[in-house]
Amino acid sequence: MSRKTRVRFAPSPTGPLHMGGVRTALYNYLYAKQNGGDFILRIEDTDSHRFVPGAEEYIIEALSWCGIVPDEGVDASGKVVETPSERHPHAPYRQSQRKPIYRQYAEQLIANGFAYYAFDTADELAARRAEAEAAKQTFIYNQVTRKTLRNSLTLPAEETARLLETTTDWTIRFKMPENTVVVMDDLIRGHIEVNTDTLDDKVLWKRADELPTYHLANIVDDHLMEITEVIRGEEWLPSLPLHYMLYKAFGWEDTMPRFAHLSLLLKPDGKGKLSKRDGDKLGFPVFPLRWVNPEGEVSRGYREDGYFPEAFVNLLAFLGWNPGDDREILSMDELVQAFSLDRIVRSGARFSVEKAHWYNREYLRMKSTEELTGLFIPILEQNGIHREKDYVAAVVALTRERVTFVADFWTVAKCLFVAPDSYDEKDAAKFWTAENATLVGAAASWLCKDYSGPWTKVGIEEALVEHIRSQEWPMGKVMNALRLALTGAASGLGIADLAALLGPAEVAARVASAEKALMK
Ligand code: GLU
Repeated sequence: MSRKTRVRFAPSPTGPLHMGGVRTALYNYLYAKQNGGDFILRIEDTDSHRFVPGAEEYIIEALSWCGIVPDEGVDASGKVVETPSERHPHAPYRQSQRKPIYRQYAEQLIANGFAYYAFDTADELAARRAEAEAAKQTFIYNQVTRKTLRNSLTLPAEETARLLETTTDWTIRFKMPENTVVVMDDLIRGHIEVNTDTLDDKVLWKRADELPTYHLANIVDDHLMEITEVIRGEEWLPSLPLHYMLYKAFGWEDTMPRFAHLSLLLKPDGKGKLSKRDGDKLGFPVFPLRWVNPEGEVSRGYREDGYFPEAFVNLLAFLGWNPGDDREILSMDELVQAFSLDRIVRSGARFSVEKAHWYNREYLRMKSTEELTGLFIPILEQNGIHREKDYVAAVVALTRERVTFVADFWTVAKCLFVAPDSYDEKDAAKFWTAENATLVGAAASWLCKDYSGPWTKVGIEEALVEHIRSQEWPMGKVMNALRLALTGAASGLGIADLAALLGPAEVAARVASAEKALMK
């Protein structure tokens, strides 16, 4: 019988979600939706030393900004669900709150000979490590060394019983079988074989805090939550043999999920993993949302940098996957339709900031002028500008092909809201000669006083060109000097576009100011 598709995103709240983590969540979500299944969010917070306040909230907010909505795990108010209900039958979804569940599973493994109690203290293990290091070796707790360490395999049963009763820093370790080949299948990487002699005896459960480690909690929860596919980053591939062995040891092989390990996101030059520092160095965010760490250090976010969530989702989806045709712009619904695990590339996906900008520009172009106007108005207000909506809309319509982010409207079109308070020095030296200044004055005066045609871009353009020609003035020089007077720089928007929006009074005033400021 085929099971309902159930996948999970299982982040540890140890900091903000890197964009690679968001991609993992996105692929899980797309896979679930395409197969009519469930996408579950589970918080893996059993390592209390690595807990970072605010990280869980950050993860949930980031997913919600991207439109990645869990079916299970987070309720409508955006909180991680703590009590079971019909919609959230497997609650709680925070592993720290599932603490009582795990010990019995670890004990079950001991009873069946797949695990053992280890009593070595931290000091004893440190001494073994130092000893190995002195001999230029690395200490590993494995099928060889366990025979020489203090555990329930080497100690008499009464001593084990006594230590279990009287001490509290023991652990339960997986008893990795000797010289056994683990045969695995990965949906992306294919067939993999690993000999257990290369693996260590991982800790599964710790008496000190009565908590499971990642490996035990992850397997037990994937089993209890009826997960059908595990789609996660390739950093977990080395854990896969242990996970296979655990499913086998529990006797859960029949319902073991299928695994898909995603390749890493690479730096723009393709050399190495994309790290937080690359973003800072090369000027792009590596986090979906801005993050301020407990030390007050700020990392930029796609949201705050002005990316549309749809653009971010689209560009993330294409970092390591493609639909197999030439489409590049796909909405979330289209991604759900097109997604398939077998089109995920095995090699690392190289991040390109140019491509990220391209995506945002494409999404910006798909938005109506009205919507963009609504997004631009708050930016104007932050800059102390309060203009009627129609005027802002006209500015947006004029400049929308020139911008990548909504905030760029301010950079590109500031001169349509405030007169220049300075003039580009190079442009002024080149274009504001005594002769040009006189001609600009004359041209502006003619346009603002004598011209009586329609005050529109087309009307102004035709009339002004015609007038300059008839006077035999040098067209390029007059136009550049006029633009310098209107905007503070010689290049930028068209003169007629500028004049049409600014109106005759403002054009005259700006030319007069330039004459005063640039008088030599
Ligand atoms: N808690 C793990 C992480 O933070 C989950 C790995 C997995 O998906 O199995 O990435």
